[in-house]
Amino acid sequence: MQDRYYSFEFFPPKTAEGAEKLRNTRAQLAPLNPKYISVTFGAGGTTQQGTLDAVLEIQREGIEAAPHLSCVGSSRESIRAILQQYRDGGIRHIVALRGDMPSGMGEIGEFRYANELVEFIRAETGDWFQIEVAAYPEYHPQARSPRHDLENFVRKVKAGANSAITQYFFNADAYFRFLDDARAMGVDVPIVPGIMPITNYSQLMRFSEMCGAEVPRWVAKRLEGFGDDRESIRAFGLDVVTALCERLLAGGVPGLHFYTLNAAGATKAIWQRLKL
Ligand code: FAD
Repeated sequence: MQDRYYSFEFFPPKTAEGAEKLRNTRAQLAPLNPKYISVTFGAGGTTQQGTLDAVLEIQREGIEAAPHLSCVGSSRESIRAILQQYRDGGIRHIVALRGDMPSGMGEIGEFRYANELVEFIRAETGDWFQIEVAAYPEYHPQARSPRHDLENFVRKVKAGANSAITQYFFNADAYFRFLDDARAMGVDVPIVPGIMPITNYSQLMRFSEMCGAEVPRWVAKRLEGFGDDRESIRAFGLDVVTALCERLLAGGVPGLHFYTLNAAGATKAIWQRLKL
């Protein structure tokens, strides 16, 4: 089996203060030796410059950087130009997504789904980029059916993805079942679980509602019960997410991708507990 690998995800900072905070977070996480750091991209191109600046800075620090790129609302020409900027900057790893159109923002654009973006990247740039795509063990919130969602995932991988990162989840069975189903449909690329540390109850519930990740009732109830006691939320969250990672690692996952939300503390704490 290939060695396990770990990666961290950041979002592009909006202010000089945010950029400084992110540098600090990176300095704390770099010693954990991630295979790469990815940086999100606001759908419709809203963070285009911020994503580019962040990945170039990360590469300069000697860590492989992978920008996310979403295609909804974009033209072929604009995606071509972004890909060229990344190539010029020596970036060779990309996370290809459809994205979600912010409400009230413009036209759907020239791409409808992520598989079309993957195809386009391969047609334009050959093997230059390692391409990651998104996977949804609990299914995408707009999926017509679990089967249809899986077929769409398979299509996206077959269009040329090298690996996949999952939406976060707290139920390991959903991941292992998804993996078995994808393997049975001929997908053999690594499918790396996305890990969301728990540090804030209301934010977690809001995110999970939007992206269709299930927070088990007992976890939600316990977190809610802590009220404003942030220490207890963090301690309990650490127990829950560490136990999840332990199960995933014991089940042979190819790696873990941490949604850091630009903070080092929770990810580092899980890391130390896991003795990685
Ligand atoms: P797709 O794979 O295109 O799927 C979207 C929906 O369409 C699914 O319901 C699928 O079943 C259906 N579908 C797919 N292909 C077809 C087809 N050919 N015909 C009919 N139906 C189809 N969002 C951002 O804006 N910026 C980011 O940086 C970002 N990073 C992310 C990173 C990860 C690891 C993950 C898991 C998600 C990320 N997202 C990001 C969120 C993502 O953009 C949304 O979940 C979005 O709604 C779907 O993107 P996708 O690439 O998975 O879409």
